[in-house]
Amino acid sequence: MNIIDGKAVSASVKEQIRQEILRDNLQVGLAVIIVGNNQASRVYVNNKKKACEVCGMQSFEYALPEETTEKELLELIDTLNNDPKVNGILCQLPLPKHLDEEKVIEAISPLKDVDAFHAVNVGKIMIGNYAFLPCTPAGVMELIHSTGTDVCGKECVVIGRSNIVGKPMAMLLLHENATVTVCHSRTKNLAEVCRRADILVSAVGRADFVTADMVKDGAVVIDVGMNRNAENKLCGDVKFDEVAPKCSYITPVPGGVGPMTIAMLMKNTLMAKRLQMSNE
Ligand code: NAP
Repeated sequence: MNIIDGKAVSASVKEQIRQEILRDNLQVGLAVIIVGNNQASRVYVNNKKKACEVCGMQSFEYALPEETTEKELLELIDTLNNDPKVNGILCQLPLPKHLDEEKVIEAISPLKDVDAFHAVNVGKIMIGNYAFLPCTPAGVMELIHSTGTDVCGKECVVIGRSNIVGKPMAMLLLHENATVTVCHSRTKNLAEVCRRADILVSAVGRADFVTADMVKDGAVVIDVGMNRNAENKLCGDVKFDEVAPKCSYITPVPGGVGPMTIAMLMKNTLMAKRLQMSNE
């Protein structure tokens, strides 16, 4: 069994980005909007700002109070859409309940939508003609590639069908010619379906969800889950100690998919800069 080192793969992606920015003497800027006082969101935003520094990008933080109105938020997005120093715009989710997330996402220019959540970018992912890849699934693909596993023709099972992880994950695997099954809360015989997987990706959001009886010998197991266990420690969906011995490769939590998501965000921001330069 091999543990995939997401931190190392992420560091190498960020280093490549840093060198490309230096080589081409680019000014790249990412605007990060955070509304309210969600502690987890604060940690994510800080990590994204740190990654910008590492890559040699500028980050612009907009920390707005909880009571920000939709109109105020949409006006800020409009200003950022028109600001040439800002190449990427990210609005940290979840937003406070009185703000309509869909409306906010759709307000971001598709050319600056570095999370790839806008319907235009989601549509492009379906077609397979995309500029921005959704960060978490793209990070998972990089991790799978880092193992030397060829996805073509493999049985892949994705547990979870959210718009930000499960569905785009299935698309990216399909684009690389995998045979993909997507599971969710209504799936029957889940363990049996998962045991078919050469590559199993879990994005459920429940600690200890994936157990050894759900995993085929020699499978590659990617754990997207970010949960808190009974001791309040960060953990994934996979019962790591019992599943790991069965796998050829497995990602740990923390230190697996999480760092890759941010590296892919950096990659998308650089891509956004290039797209905007070619549209000038
Ligand atoms: P989500 O929107 O809550 O989706 C969870 C999915 O799991 C749903 O499709 C749900 O099915 C499915 N599910 C729930 N219970 C199930 C069951 N008993 N059997 C089979 N499927 C079941 O969550 P998400 O946003 O996709 O995130 C999933 C996890 O990934 C979370 O832990 C999140 O924190 C983590 N995450 C990590 C990163 C990262 O960078 N590492 C990024 C994003 C998310 P239904 O659709 O039928 O309800």
